[in-house]
Amino acid sequence: MDHTGVEPVPTAVEVDPYETALAQLDAITDRLGLDDAMRQYLRTNRRELTVNFAVRMDNGSTAIVWGCRVQHNNARGPCKGGLRFHPDVHLNEVRALAMWMTWKCAIPNIPYGGGKGGVKVDYKSLSPTELENLSRAYASAIGPLIGPDRDIPAPDVGTNPQVMAWIVDTYSREKGAWSPGAVTGKPVNVCGTLGRDAATGRGVQFVVEEAARYRGLPLEGATVAVQGFGNAGQWSAELLAGRGCRVVAVSDTSGGIYNGRGLDVEAAIAHKLATNRIVTFKDGDRITNDELLTLDVDVLVPAAFENQITAANAARVRARIIAEAANGPTTLEADRILVEKDTFIVPDVLASAGGVVVSYFEWVQNRQGLFWEEKQVNASLARIMRKAFGQVASLSEKEKVTMREAALMLGISRVAEAAKLRGMNHS
Ligand code: NAD
Repeated sequence: MDHTGVEPVPTAVEVDPYETALAQLDAITDRLGLDDAMRQYLRTNRRELTVNFAVRMDNGSTAIVWGCRVQHNNARGPCKGGLRFHPDVHLNEVRALAMWMTWKCAIPNIPYGGGKGGVKVDYKSLSPTELENLSRAYASAIGPLIGPDRDIPAPDVGTNPQVMAWIVDTYSREKGAWSPGAVTGKPVNVCGTLGRDAATGRGVQFVVEEAARYRGLPLEGATVAVQGFGNAGQWSAELLAGRGCRVVAVSDTSGGIYNGRGLDVEAAIAHKLATNRIVTFKDGDRITNDELLTLDVDVLVPAAFENQITAANAARVRARIIAEAANGPTTLEADRILVEKDTFIVPDVLASAGGVVVSYFEWVQNRQGLFWEEKQVNASLARIMRKAFGQVASLSEKEKVTMREAALMLGISRVAEAAKLRGMNHS
């Protein structure tokens, strides 16, 4: 392996994630035999708001920043989905993420639709004051769309509980009443829930346990590689290590590190938090992200971005199980190649649902004015994730389709049924 230097980012080929999401939907619509009106309804977004807002910078200047909020569907309940702050965010990416959120909420059967928001900003270059100004200005700009019964934002790439605190505070001030249920992923001390921070990784842990059992692979000692070492990646790595897996590689935008004996995941997380660069962690050899994705491991967890497993590297992917913590990490072509190789893929709309399931618990607690113990959060998450995995696996056997097709069939049919029952002009 060549362990020199820092890899340029992004590594991905240019594939429009919205085209991927629409192609997935079209294929399932055909399979389910849905009519043209339903196909058109499911292909389109209920609402899209693009906003340009002013942000006061520390040097006294004003920046005009672009953002958006997309509501794909709310037939089963209010729209739900994260906020992404990133320099490469674009409308089609947010549209794809909003559509995937609709299926992701329907698959574990939680009473939400799907939405997503984005702000085109290099958040790492902002001071804390500038980030607060930006978060509050964006919250005001999308204020007309959001609310506990309408559309409930949460964290995604580039946002965190602090950003959620500013957003819920701005929303509440403008409404004139404290409305904690308008945002999830809040700090625990601001009506957040215990267990939300780890939830996406914990969901990944549960589906990997289920997948390993399903495929007859012992979890104890199973080798794991994790691409992307932020919220989803760190928690996935830590919790899988806690279940006896050997996490041999992790990576971020600076590249990856590999240790065949198994990394000390807690030390790697501490290093990442202190330096923001995993490649300088001493206890491993440097590898590139491409090398990480093609390692001979039992479990691969892509936890970074869309379009990481592509036609260019899929044939070289050697993992037995892929648990997609990221949204849309596998292109359509790559998916076909992996299926031919009999790679067992737990698709994003199932594998990464842990975050939104615990966001739902947070919203329920906020609405009831109650607080759950962390034990209750984690046990409820386990029950929902394991049940969703079982339903998807049974459907995939019954219909002789992949786990991805089965998950999408389950999610899309539930949304279509709700729209049929309510009519397509629901609030
Ligand atoms: P994050 O910002 O906390 O972390 C992202 C990580 O990916 C960072 O470590 C970054 O350095 C790394 N990264 C970015 N580009 C990379 C590349 N090309 N190669 C390797 N690493 C790269 O974000 P997150 O919240 O962990 O989200 C990661 C993915 O998981 C996204 O696809 C997101 O939509 C999805 N997801 C997140 C949640 C959640 O609750 N946070 C829930 C469901 C899905």
